[in-house]
Amino acid sequence: MEINKKKAPQKAVVEIVKAGGWGNVTYLHKLECGHTEIRKRHAGSKYIACSGCVMAKEMEATTKQLAQPIYVETAVIYDPVATELASFEQDIGRVRASLAKALGVTVGDVELIVTEKDNGELSVSQAMVFLGPSSIDNLIKSVK
Ligand SMILES: [Zn+2]
Repeated sequence: MEINKKKAPQKAVVEIVKAGGWGNVTYLHKLECGHTEIRKRHAGSKYIACSGCVMAKEMEATTKQLAQPIYVETAVIYDPVATELASFEQDIGRVRASLAKALGVTVGDVELIVTEKDNGELSVSQAMVFLGPSSIDNLIKSVK
């Protein structure tokens, strides 16, 4: 990552630690923000630009960018019409199950006719029962 030092905030030098051996000396400038600037020379000033702060800021921006599509996806998934239909289908399932139980047939034998009212509300207007082989057998047996 390339650091633009002009954008870097000036931070107070807390401590300077000399590191490395002869011919390979570096100065670790510990700054008030908790970052450490490594320089070949002793800064000689109380404030120096902190590239750690710039990196931290850029990382934060990248993290925010990466997080964005998640919010978009959530918005797409949330669909009030689909949610309403799903709950209506649950109601339909309960009606079918209750009718099947009351009539002594299987749930698959019961068909419901759903109509939409003028106000857009869905309701069950008719129920039809088609008797399958097992339901026919059961009904005949129950009569005997
Ligand atoms: Zn910093």
